Amino acid sequence: MQEVNRAAESAEPFDRFRLIFDTTFQFIGLLDSAGVMLEVNRPALEWAKASRDHVVGKPVWETPWWIHAGEAVLDQLRQAVASAGRGEFVRYDVTLPAPNSSAHTFDFSLTPIINETGHVTYMIAEGRDVTEQRRLQIALHEANEQLRVAQAQARQLAITDALTGLHNRRGFFNLAEHHRALGARSGSKAFLLVADIDGLKRSNDHHGHEAGDALIQLAAKALTATLRSSDLIARLGGDEFVALGSASSQGSSAQIAERIAAQVDVLNADAALPIPLQLSVGVHEFDWSKDLHLEALIAKADAAMYDQKRSKRK
Ligand code: GH3
Ligand code: MG
Repeated sequence: MQEVNRAAESAEPFDRFRLIFDTTFQFIGLLDSAGVMLEVNRPALEWAKASRDHVVGKPVWETPWWIHAGEAVLDQLRQAVASAGRGEFVRYDVTLPAPNSSAHTFDFSLTPIINETGHVTYMIAEGRDVTEQRRLQIALHEANEQLRVAQAQARQLAITDALTGLHNRRGFFNLAEHHRALGARSGSKAFLLVADIDGLKRSNDHHGHEAGDALIQLAAKALTATLRSSDLIARLGGDEFVALGSASSQGSSAQIAERIAAQVDVLNADAALPIPLQLSVGVHEFDWSKDLHLEALIAKADAAMYDQKRSKRK
């Protein structure tokens, strides 16, 4: 560096510019208005392992930096030269095969030099090796994408019941507001359903917790198989389920409960469980236009469910 400083101090202005030209790590070339190479700096020559004489006088697309590039890259370069020849500044990333190494990506530009009469006399071609920056940008983009997916998964897990795959209590209350907004807009009638397994404690006591879990999973299956995919179905906790949906086209409360009971029978016939699933269901129909609290709706459906449970016991 000291050598260079001393050289710069003693140099004439022209030599100083030459020093900058040949010492910058950016590749710089001077072209005429048709894209013929007039001058090129040392770093560019060193990268291409070419001599100045070998390059000067050739159209830029026939110079060693571009000679191994594909047809599409050469077409883009010829178009860039044409644009700069019309006085436009051109800049783009280009990936070029490097001698004895993998391809390098350059931030390439052509700056037209325009004289007093408005004509392009020269172009300055510049190339800065941005291989590492672009690699890091891609890696960063990929890492961000992975983070986004992981965050979405975490959000989904936070509102999902692990045993049944249904929404959990949090998911239900979060998403119920969305259903309320949709329901209020469409003006359709809605239902809120509560279901609770009969005698799960007894099953746990006699056949173990896993058999109890299987009953909970079967109850979830009965609800999802009967209700529509647009309905919101959740396991509130323990053996208690809740569903919220549009009542139009699903029939009356009694019909919904009957369809679930029929589905439970079908599933019981298929599943070889020590105790068949018995589900008590209460359905409360309501109108979204009346501003109702979810808790109040659940309490109403719960009461209907308990009526059914009690009548079964008798
Ligand atoms: P009922 O007929 O009145 O509904 O009585 P039940 O035995 O089903 O008991 P209840 O609904 O009052 O309480 C639910 C029971 O379910 C309490 C608990 O022992 C059991 N339970 C809660 N969560 C789980 C679970 O994740 N797995 C299993 N196997 N059992 C659970
Ligand atoms: Mg129960």
